[in-house]
Amino acid sequence: MGKDRYDVIVVGARCAGSPTAMLLARKGYKVLVVDRATFPSDTLSTHILHPPGAEAMQRWGLLDRLVATGCPPIDTYTFDFGPFTLSGAPGTQGAPLAYCPRRTVLDKLLVDAASEAGAEVREEFTVQEIVVEDDRVVGIRGRSKDGATVTERADVVVGADGRNSFVAKAVHPERYNEKPQLLCGYYSYWSGLPMDGRFDVYIRPARGFAAVPTHDDLTLVIAGWPFEEHEANKHDVEGNYLKMFDLAPEFAERIRGAKREARFAGTAVPNFFRRPYGPGWALVGDAGYNKDFITAQGILDAFRDAELCATALDQSFSGALSFDEAMAGYQSTRDEHVLPMFEFTCQLATLEPPPPELQQLLAAVHGNQKAMDGFARVNAGVTSPAEFFAEENVGQIFAAASPAPAG
Ligand SMILES: Cc1cc2nc3c(=O)[nH]c(=O)nc-3n(C[C@H](O)[C@H](O)[C@H](O)COP(=O)(O)OP(=O)(O)OC[C@H]3O[C@@H](n4cnc5c(N)ncnc54)[C@H](O)[C@@H]3O)c2cc1C
Repeated sequence: MGKDRYDVIVVGARCAGSPTAMLLARKGYKVLVVDRATFPSDTLSTHILHPPGAEAMQRWGLLDRLVATGCPPIDTYTFDFGPFTLSGAPGTQGAPLAYCPRRTVLDKLLVDAASEAGAEVREEFTVQEIVVEDDRVVGIRGRSKDGATVTERADVVVGADGRNSFVAKAVHPERYNEKPQLLCGYYSYWSGLPMDGRFDVYIRPARGFAAVPTHDDLTLVIAGWPFEEHEANKHDVEGNYLKMFDLAPEFAERIRGAKREARFAGTAVPNFFRRPYGPGWALVGDAGYNKDFITAQGILDAFRDAELCATALDQSFSGALSFDEAMAGYQSTRDEHVLPMFEFTCQLATLEPPPPELQQLLAAVHGNQKAMDGFARVNAGVTSPAEFFAEENVGQIFAAASPAPAG
């Protein structure tokens, strides 16, 4: 049994867990964050950090550190639909840039920030049991680095342990808005494929791929096909991955001149929401809400959850609100914010051709810089799809595209 009792124990120390621990420790709470991994370490994920993610790091005083690692900034997103390409700025005046930091770099930076804030970080600690007393979560039991079984107690245990969350399995939260795996994606890193500050996305029938610059002069290239093709294609990932690029001959030419520097990694993920709180527990990041990676929202969603959850826990600890009131606020703010993006993401992840009305709209967006910036910002998680696809905005885009009346 550990000697101390914590205000909060966070299980998982990556994009959701470390910021949650950091923000709570900065508010003066006694926080333990555990992870079975050691840091720096990689994880199965590409890692585009859209401008709102960079903005969160700026708020936390961490963006300069990320920039100092030599992570190349990205100021333009392009969407090549074949007949035309939309090219726009993804950010805002306050946060104009995206980044694509290796998770080895980003996650380590976040773990260190949690530790500096005063959270106790235990790496190589595997949680094996959630301790429950009188129907309330009161702690964790797990195996520490030296092999000992350790029990630690806290007022609240936060599961930041990813989409297969051990904490969630123990507390059985309600699941809603569930959709199965829609897309299967594989990625690798290439040298000799300069991107000049662009994130390029290619959309083709039943295929989608993207290239984005990351650390060490490498370019991350991810390519996806519908989940129905997973079984058929998994025996020749490389062949299917490379064949896809022929659908965009200019890109095919560029990548033929580049060199692959890593093995392929890939997966398909289910889509779901989990109720993110209950007696003595909370969920943040993928543990509470998981969606396809086609729109690359996971890291910024994890950052937003960390802020919302840390604020709600502070409201509850300080007595400003009851735990249930505060955490219900966290859940409703999260859901309201992400639902339009969740629907948009799931639609894109089918890799079905856009419905005719959307094709007409995208053709009207083409060449209209304000509208192209708007579309880039939707994909960057800056502007809600609900706002961009609202009747008034769509009307303005079509009006700007129609030829001026004669005379
Ligand atoms: C193929 C792919 C591509 C993606 N691309 C992007 C992208 O470009 N941009 C983007 O924003 N998002 C992307 N995502 C999503 C992103 O990876 C996740 O949303 C993000 O990692 C969520 O962070 P998290 O902290 O919630 O969980 P995770 O990053 O999964 O971290 C969970 C941590 O919990 C620890 N843990 C789990 N169980 C235990 C246990 N029992 N005991 C101790 N520790 C435990 C794990 O070791 C791990 O370190 C992608 C995902 C995939 C699969």
